[in-house]
Amino acid sequence: MKNWFCIVCFCISLSIHAQERCGFALGQLKRERDNPSWIRQKAEFEYKIREFNKENSLENKRIAAKVYKIPVVVHVIHNNASNVIGGANNVNISDEQIASQIRVLNEDYRKKTGTNGFNTSPVGSDMELEFELATKDPNGNVTNGITRTFINNNGYDITEENQAIAKLIKWDYERYLNIWVVRSRNGIIGYSTFPYDSKLNGLETTQQDLDAQKIFDGVIIDYRNFGTCCGTLSNTYNLGRTLTHEIGHWLGLLHPTADTRCGDDFCDDTPQIESLNLNTSCVKLTSNCTGTSVQNMIENFMDYSPDRCMNIFTNDQKKRSRAALELSQTRKRFINNLEPLPETDVLTISTEPNPIKESAFLKTQFKGQKNVVLSVYDFRGFLIYEENYPNAQSNYFSIKTDKLRTGEYIVRVQAGEETKSQKIVVFK
Ligand SMILES: [Zn+2]
Repeated sequence: MKNWFCIVCFCISLSIHAQERCGFALGQLKRERDNPSWIRQKAEFEYKIREFNKENSLENKRIAAKVYKIPVVVHVIHNNASNVIGGANNVNISDEQIASQIRVLNEDYRKKTGTNGFNTSPVGSDMELEFELATKDPNGNVTNGITRTFINNNGYDITEENQAIAKLIKWDYERYLNIWVVRSRNGIIGYSTFPYDSKLNGLETTQQDLDAQKIFDGVIIDYRNFGTCCGTLSNTYNLGRTLTHEIGHWLGLLHPTADTRCGDDFCDDTPQIESLNLNTSCVKLTSNCTGTSVQNMIENFMDYSPDRCMNIFTNDQKKRSRAALELSQTRKRFINNLEPLPETDVLTISTEPNPIKESAFLKTQFKGQKNVVLSVYDFRGFLIYEENYPNAQSNYFSIKTDKLRTGEYIVRVQAGEETKSQKIVVFK
């Protein structure tokens, strides 16, 4: 009953507002519908995040002090048969428009002084995340971090068709934050995956969820709400904050309402509010969720305010995003891949952990940059699977345990001319 009520609300809200800030709430309803254990999984995720932050409360410096540089690839999916780039109302947006968007991310996620992303709020946080267009593609070739794909259609329902979009083109989700720019035809201007797949620390994740995340992981944005210049931009969402907001979801942040009246976003320093800001202005709003009137934080990037009103991520939002990066299996692999490990003179490998229960990484160190081949054989010497990493540096490579049953295996790494093997044991 409750679900139907929410769907009705959502449809009413869609009909009033030609543009909907984000498809997160709709995506959640869809998952609830498709997966009966979804509510329980969500509760477990929140429990783990809470426990992680409790354990690390004295050590927040350790979690907070690191700046991660996130490699980004922007896939422009367009229907411009002439392949003209840029100009008015062209979904095949210009490199300049994309650059303007990346600049905004760095202002917002670093609370950069002298920019729109700066704030003086006592709870305002520097998220210590930086974004840069990838300089190497998955094959190790030089790239500008932008791909362009022509497809003869009139756009997408970005909440329902995200997998279809990702099937057109995607780069390794554990090495790049994939962002697709498309024409949205359902009025929703942004959509993102959420890091629920936290199997790493014992959380239940359905195979269905894991499979879905292999097909689509990243953010989809409508081209009229991307960046700050150069193309045709909407009046309200014209300063690049749709992507700032959606990457917030990719990092595990919720809307301040948690999509229900006076809901809990699990951040103590964001006020509990009755509803998101659906106005086209920055007018102050108040809520009364606890018997006292409080002012909404309409400046928060996770609200629905117009772009020009937004400039705050809070300290608790930062803690939550850092916890999600550590706890989610795919996000943890992502941050492991960000920084190469120290080089060693000769190839060394070690599996962490071994025996393996759920997931594992192969710590692989060598000299310089080499083509790496990771192969897993069963005890009879049959190849189970093989992965190639061209021009790789010393790093953690994930062992794909979903391909392995309980038993003993040999993992073999070839890095350039050197090879090393190790026995691994899987318990499922
Ligand atoms: Zn959202």
